[in-house]
Parts: sequence; C-alpha cells; structure tokens
Amino acid sequence: MKIRETPADDKVCGWFDLSKRRVPCEAAKGNTRARWAVVGAGLTGLAVARQLGSNFPDDQIVLLEAQEIGFGASGRNSGFAIDLPHDIGAADYIGDPAKAKMSLALNRYAQQQISALVSQYGIDCQLAAAGKYQAAVENKGLKVLDAYMGGLDRLGQSYQVIDGKDLPEHIGTSFYRKALFTPGTMLLQPASLVKGLADSLPQNVTLFENCAVTEVEYSSPIVLSHSTGSVVVDKLVLANNAFASQFGFLKGRLLPVFTYASMTRPLTSEEQIRLGGKQQWGIIPGDPFGTTLRRTPDQRLLVRNMMRYHPDGKTNRQVLTAATEMQRRSFERRFSMLPNIEFEYTWGGAMCMTRNHAGHFGPLRKDVYGALGCNGLGITRGTGTGMLLADWLAGKDSELIDFLLSSAGPSANPPEPLLSIGVNSSLYWGQYRAGQES
Ligand SMILES: Cc1cc2nc3c(=O)[nH]c(=O)nc-3n(C[C@H](O)[C@H](O)[C@H](O)COP(=O)(O)OP(=O)(O)OC[C@H]3O[C@@H](n4cnc5c(N)ncnc54)[C@H](O)[C@@H]3O)c2cc1C
Repeated sequence: MKIRETPADDKVCGWFDLSKRRVPCEAAKGNTRARWAVVGAGLTGLAVARQLGSNFPDDQIVLLEAQEIGFGASGRNSGFAIDLPHDIGAADYIGDPAKAKMSLALNRYAQQQISALVSQYGIDCQLAAAGKYQAAVENKGLKVLDAYMGGLDRLGQSYQVIDGKDLPEHIGTSFYRKALFTPGTMLLQPASLVKGLADSLPQNVTLFENCAVTEVEYSSPIVLSHSTGSVVVDKLVLANNAFASQFGFLKGRLLPVFTYASMTRPLTSEEQIRLGGKQQWGIIPGDPFGTTLRRTPDQRLLVRNMMRYHPDGKTNRQVLTAATEMQRRSFERRFSMLPNIEFEYTWGGAMCMTRNHAGHFGPLRKDVYGALGCNGLGITRGTGTGMLLADWLAGKDSELIDFLLSSAGPSANPPEPLLSIGVNSSLYWGQYRAGQES
C-alpha cells in the first residue's frame, strides 16, 4: 500500500525555533530488520517506543519520524499538560462521571510520567505546575463555566472562581468577565520536551528522523519502505495521528483539523509592568472555539485560535496569513495596553479530532496496533496511551488499560464530499458563534 500523503508542517513554529538546537538522528539507509517499528515520533510514539524498549530489553525497536523531532504537532502545541477531563463534546466538559474519573486518572498518570522523565534526564522544557485559567467573556462561554463547575463538583475536583474585576491581578487583562482557576495543569515548552524525550530513549530504540514511511506491505513480517530502503518488522505500532488513515485504518474517522498560533517577541520590562498580573500563566477559552493564551517564562505572549480542516494533513501560506490577522485582532481586544507588540511567529499544526471525541487504542489488524486520536489533548493523553499500549503489548494489565480497550473508538462519518462540507461548516459555525471569545 502506497502512503499517498506524508507530513510537511510549516517552518515557522516559535517553540521549535526557540528550543535548543540538536543534530537530528540520521534517516534509515538500506534495509533494517527489527522486532518492532513505531511510526511517528510525537509524544505518543516516543512514549510507545520508550516503554517497549523497557518492557522488551532484548528486542530492537525502530522509531520512524517523517520530519525532525519537535517539528510535528507535539512540538507546536500550546504546552498545556491538562489533568482534568476535557471533553469538549460534553456540555460540562466532564461528561459521563465514570469515564471522567478514568480520564482524570489517565491524565494524572501521564503527568507523573512526564515529570519523572523531565527530572531524570534534566530536560529543560520550562515545566511548571502553574495551573490554568478557563476564562469567558461571552454569555455562551460563561454558561460553559457554570456547567463546568457543576461537573468539577461531581468529580470532587477543586477550583477557584475569579470574578472579572479581580482577573487583572492574575492575567493583566481586564477583558474577561469570569474565570475558573484549576491548579492541576502543568505548562511547558513543547518542542523542548519532545527533543529531550527523543534524546533520552533506551539503547534498544533506534530513532530515524526525516524518514517518512512511503509504503507498507502487511505481510509476515511487515515491510515498511522509505526513500532508500525498507524496515522489516514483526510488529508495527502506529502513533502518527490522523496520518494513520494513510496506512489504511480508520478512514474518514481520524480528522486532521489544524489549529494555529502566533507568538510575540519578548515583552520589555516596562511592557511587563504595563501588562501586570503574574509572570506566567495559561488561559483556555470557556467556548471551545475561543482563544487560548499563554504568557511564557521568557515573557512572550502566545495566541492560539482558528481551526481548519485539511484532509491532506497540510496547511498553506494563505491560511497562515489569515491566522496572523485573526490573532492580531484577538491580541488587540485583550491587550490594548500593549500596542505595537509584533508577532515573531505564526504557525499551524494538526490535531487528530474524532466526531465522538474518542480515540483508538489497541489492535488495528494482525500484528498492527495504534494509539491514535488525541482530540487536542495529546500531551497527557498521547503520553499516557502510548505508555499503556506498550504495557498491554507486554501482557500487563491495569484498570486504565481495561478502560482504554473498552472505548468505542472513533465514530464513522459520511463519505466525501459530505465529510468536508460537514466538518468545515461546523468549524465555521462554531468559530462564528464564539464571537468576542475568539
Ligand atoms: C497549535 C496547537 C495547540 C495545541 N495545544 C495543545 C495543548 O495545549 N495541550 C495538549 O495536550 N494538546 C495540544 N494540542 C494537540 C497536541 O499537539 C496533539 O494532540 C499531539 O501532538 C498528538 O501527539 P501524537 O504524538 O499522537 O501525534 P503528532 O504529534 O501529530 O505526531 C505524529 C508524528 O507522526 C509523524 N508521521 C506521520 N506520518 C508519518 C509517516 N508516513 N512516516 C513517518 N512519520 C510520520 C508526523 O511527522 C508526526 O511527527 C495542540 C495542537 C496544536 C496544533
């Protein structure tokens, strides 16, 4: 089977550019034989490969990444490692309480794994237990916050309600009418995290970068082709987000929905005083179609919004320009005290969304497995599902593994062109309804 589309992210991601330079591992050359291959070295693939390496110390594991480490979505997200369930399909973001309890346990397990690896390998990724604000300005967003409070109460999770008049002490801007602060989110520099994780893999894991899989033969053993040869393996794990559809799985169910971000230059000391508030924070929107903001430890402001469906997994210059313009307007609405702060970067990245917000975990066909469909929450979910998939492959059992295996998986969608029409119209409608929250 030929892989028709391979990733080609834009070259202007601020996180990647500001993270430590590293020499990428060489691409595979000629023919390689191993017991396992993992395709995709984002957070999910790195977690799978690390845990396979530790569970099977006598096996060779090959990790194949089409781009450079940190260049894909795992290195270009907003850096919120969120603990709480974040079910944007549920009115209260929490949904079914039993599932929410397990999602919370999964996310906290992933946070512990990330913290432990960051400290074990001294990964400098600005990891901070900073919590997050979920803030609203429109009535729709305020209703979400009210519903979310009910959900958090039912789940027994703490939060602080902050009235609009008190918000400038926290975040500088007086734009929002209300926010909920939840303490369990960790903030981080995503590209630095991914690079650090890639540079600390176990010895029996071989990472090939700039090495796209271009063809796959589901024989026994499985043959993966790349530009100069092949990797022949007994077992294959797909951790390549929506690109798993190119490998023949979950077609039309894994939706490459892109979102975009812009990052300013660092604020001067005088501008920081003018802004006020805490030195570092992260805000997610009440309305899921609204704007995410970060004030980074190096005093840049990040603005993330806009969603576009790109079925081929690639964005383009025109959409990036539209994102810069939209984010400029979002910035000016919130930070009128900071005129003339230019954006240094604007970039896009793919999330793997599914209609029912469920991911895939487990077998795809004989000897082929996947952890796919993070639905915009890949830092924790990707890490957690990646590690647990490798544990399940090693015959381990746990309540979290049972929970993941019992998921219904991504739901089916109508065929093209109805699919594109449906996804595009719900994205446009959602963004239009977000109003000032965008
Ligand atoms: C702007 C933005 C903001 C976001 N903010 C957050 C946030 O704050 N918190 C959060 O948790 N999530 C956030 N997300 C979502 C998060 O980035 C994803 O959920 C996460 O990256 C998924 O990780 P992954 O490893 O499963 O997939 P990816 O990171 O997409 O990794 C898959 C990898 O597979 C590779 N690949 C694909 N096809 C092939 C092939 N044929 N051969 C070899 N390699 C291949 C790709 O190059 C890619 O590197 C955001 C996303 C974006 C774009």
